Amino acid sequence: MSSPWLTSSPTSADRAAFADAQPTAYWPQTLGAREPHPPLERVLDCDLLIVGGGFTGLWAALYAKERAPDREIVVLEATRCGAGASSRNGGFLNYSLTHGIENGRVRFPDEIGTIERLAMANFDVLCADLERYGIDAELEATGELDVAVAAHQVPDLEEAARVLEEFGQRAELLDRDALQAEVHSPLYLAGLWKRSGAAIVNPAKLADGLREAALRAGVRIHEHSAVRRLVKSGQGVHAITDAGVVRADRALLATSAYDPLIPAVRRYVAPVYDYALMTEPLSEEQLESVGWKRRQGIGDSGNQFHYYRLSADNRILWGGYDAVYRYGGPVGPELDDDEATFARLSHNFFTNFPQLEGVRFTHRWGGAIDTCSRFSVFFGRAIGGRAVYALGYTGLGVGASRFGARTGLDLLDGHATEATQLQFVRRRPVPFPPEPLRSAVIQLTRNRLAAADRSGSRGLWLRTLDRFGLGFDS
Ligand SMILES: Cc1cc2nc3c(=O)[nH]c(=O)nc-3n(C[C@H](O)[C@H](O)[C@H](O)COP(=O)(O)OP(=O)(O)OC[C@H]3O[C@@H](n4cnc5c(N)ncnc54)[C@H](O)[C@@H]3O)c2cc1C
Repeated sequence: MSSPWLTSSPTSADRAAFADAQPTAYWPQTLGAREPHPPLERVLDCDLLIVGGGFTGLWAALYAKERAPDREIVVLEATRCGAGASSRNGGFLNYSLTHGIENGRVRFPDEIGTIERLAMANFDVLCADLERYGIDAELEATGELDVAVAAHQVPDLEEAARVLEEFGQRAELLDRDALQAEVHSPLYLAGLWKRSGAAIVNPAKLADGLREAALRAGVRIHEHSAVRRLVKSGQGVHAITDAGVVRADRALLATSAYDPLIPAVRRYVAPVYDYALMTEPLSEEQLESVGWKRRQGIGDSGNQFHYYRLSADNRILWGGYDAVYRYGGPVGPELDDDEATFARLSHNFFTNFPQLEGVRFTHRWGGAIDTCSRFSVFFGRAIGGRAVYALGYTGLGVGASRFGARTGLDLLDGHATEATQLQFVRRRPVPFPPEPLRSAVIQLTRNRLAAADRSGSRGLWLRTLDRFGLGFDS
């Protein structure tokens, strides 16, 4: 049996289910109201400037202040802290730094053992730090379920379980009956329950908790203060916003899928849009009809995959499948809504959970992912070594952004660590070609990935990309 997702098309009922949904991310609505931090409206001197107030920027600000409390640290955020990918994501907190072991093993065969060890340490410290800073991010150590919805995906789960165990993770294979006993869907054929290194969080609460912790530590934050230009000046850098200037010794750039400010970096990152729907809270009976007592985050197998999980108040977040790259890589609020993608998502939701017919979606939104060709965070220096950037998480940055922040800071401070010695940190990804080739290559690759999901085998184009260490993912 090939992938079940394309056997039928969205119906008017699928469209009606999200017609009244608010076109905005659900997670920020779980936060209390707060005043924005004032925009930068003067010339400000500091030791360290951080551009971008998402997970990467906020972890970096917090750790930098902790490392040297006398250091003046300023965060400049274009909109509101956390308003980028950090509050729009699925909240899957996975330990992997390399978008899964398999990807890491192929790209860094000599270092994967070390990377895996550092990845697990990063996950453990992140969880411990939530306690330490008093951040209630609704962390639930549920593990993660990967589910097969096509016969050809079952052996892949078996292989994935073997590899996870080889690297010390706890992984349990579930046959059809065992999986159905966990979560009920007519599509499920088999599952892999990753019992270690995986949890779910409320990402907006994580981002906001980091913002508050950074503030308490003495970090200065300016919101609605987009950096328009970053220039070298003497021994430092100047960051120019619409109404002010920050003069800093050093800068950490944590701009994710947005313009990286350093032109040479643009070729490494392609902003890819990922979309999600959130249901209303399920009733007791609806929840009973799905099972899901142990609340694992779930991802279905395949190149085009859905990710879904329960929220604290028992809504289902259902996202993924389409990964949309648009010509030129635009990023902006006008792209947060995509009718055709929501219709497909809604249709696939009811295909997966037909017992939930009649459930309404209350929120629909999209967000830009900083895709790079190796699917994992990369680092680099710019402006004569005065600035370091940490980008490219490619859809798995909730956990990895802590590592990105920490390592970016180490590079900036000149601290040699086990991580900073790795090729994984020192090497940059293969760049994407410029437009119009970039769009053409990405569309062709998406097309071939969809075909591979239907047939169960990677065709010539994908195998060629694999050989050159290139790829496209979300
Ligand atoms: C829909 C979606 C679902 C996802 N699901 C998951 C998931 O379940 N698990 C997972 O691990 N990962 C997931 N991700 C990825 C994850 O959210 C990101 O990897 C992570 O949030 C990256 O954090 P960041 O701080 O680097 O980027 P962001 O949170 O995007 O922060 C970058 C910030 O920089 C600011 N900025 C940009 N340019 C400037 C400038 N010039 N001046 C000032 N500020 C600027 C932006 O406004 C933004 O706030 C998902 C992403 C999306 C979009």
